[in-house]
Amino acid sequence: MVFTHDTEESLQAAVVLVNAGEPPVTIETVADLDAFFAGQGYTGRHDSTQAELEEVLALQPRLRELLTADRDAAVALVNDMLATAGAVPQLVRHPPTDWHIHAVPSDAPLATRILVETAMAMIDVIRDDELSRLAVCADDDCAGIVLDLSRNRSRRYCSTTCSNRNAQAAHRARRADQASAASPTA
Ligand SMILES: [Zn+2]
Ligand SMILES: [Zn+2]
Repeated sequence: MVFTHDTEESLQAAVVLVNAGEPPVTIETVADLDAFFAGQGYTGRHDSTQAELEEVLALQPRLRELLTADRDAAVALVNDMLATAGAVPQLVRHPPTDWHIHAVPSDAPLATRILVETAMAMIDVIRDDELSRLAVCADDDCAGIVLDLSRNRSRRYCSTTCSNRNAQAAHRARRADQASAASPTA
């Protein structure tokens, strides 16, 4: 594990949320948000309203900026986000999770909690100087964010769709090279 469990979960969820705004868009409706909430294991307040959906979607550009910022820029963003939200870190324990940090109450709006959680997670990333764990997808046409928590830092694509597409393109390019090398007219 690169970071503590809750830090990795928060980063993962933030990346999923940002990437959900890239084609094919996967969070558009309240039902999509419900699925995201359940899928990422969120607890606490969840209104399931259009207003909550709009607040959460409005986070996408802010989270993208934070997750792709350089170290000093990320520090400024984290400090600003935490101060604006009035964050007060508290150790909490609720099943099935052991002691971990919440910095805003569990009845705060979902968008506030996602933002603060991501900012808290970025504290670890910044202190450990591990911002290289976050990057934009290596696919030329994809703006998805890659969170690489692998030991050998081998992840380059945001999704299996992107990695498969690029593996196929590389394979086709190799075959085309071989074909032109074998052809007498080349
Ligand atoms: Zn919790
Ligand atoms: Zn991608």
